[in-house]
Amino acid sequence: MITAQRKPMQEIMSYVAPYDKILLLGCNECVTVCYAGGRKEVGILASALQMGSLQQGKKLEVVEMTLERQCDPEYVEELARTIDQYDAVCSMACGCGVQTVAGRYLDKPVYPMVNTTFMGASERQGVWAERCQGCGECVLAYTGGICPVARCSKRIFNGPCGGSTGGKCEIAPDVDCAWQLIWDRLKALGRTDLYQQIMPAKDWRSARDGGPRRIVREDLI
Ligand code: SF4
Ligand code: SF4
Repeated sequence: MITAQRKPMQEIMSYVAPYDKILLLGCNECVTVCYAGGRKEVGILASALQMGSLQQGKKLEVVEMTLERQCDPEYVEELARTIDQYDAVCSMACGCGVQTVAGRYLDKPVYPMVNTTFMGASERQGVWAERCQGCGECVLAYTGGICPVARCSKRIFNGPCGGSTGGKCEIAPDVDCAWQLIWDRLKALGRTDLYQQIMPAKDWRSARDGGPRRIVREDLI
């Protein structure tokens, strides 16, 4: 899922300062799962905004709404009938949702309420960790299902660097060395032969390095 964290209250207050009535817009997908921008977080932020505004001697009207998916034009269209009622939209979706709303309603200011952070997985309650950087050419089949792009600090492809010590990465003692994890997993699978194969230099054009990317599925258009 896409993970995000709510922005600091001071920054949020600076965004809403010019307005009297805002739409606080949550999303039912990833940001709900990571407790950053779902219906519950919309309610909490709405209360905080109203209290913060009152403390500044101002009455801010906050209307709460949560869309099924803010990155999907079909759901964003639901705002068409009512959006004129608001001075601005404060989106609690990831950056994809914010941009979908802003792209549809060109004359309406849209502000991000969260910092979109990474594609990750839940390790345990309250802890998420980066797992994929959307490189566009997945190599998990050769690395025992451990991603060297997202989980190795140097994004190297052929074994650990010289900084791997005791299974930990040199950047911090609490960060696992991805290549140690890859080796352990390949051993468990009986596939250490994969470790012997030299992976060719990666063509990063399929990643973000090649510019903004699109997927076009002719069969679905
Ligand atoms: S190899 Fe690329 S696509 Fe596969 S998990 Fe890693 S970053 Fe994501
Ligand atoms: S110690 Fe391991 S995870 Fe850290 S940069 Fe080197 S190979 Fe990558």
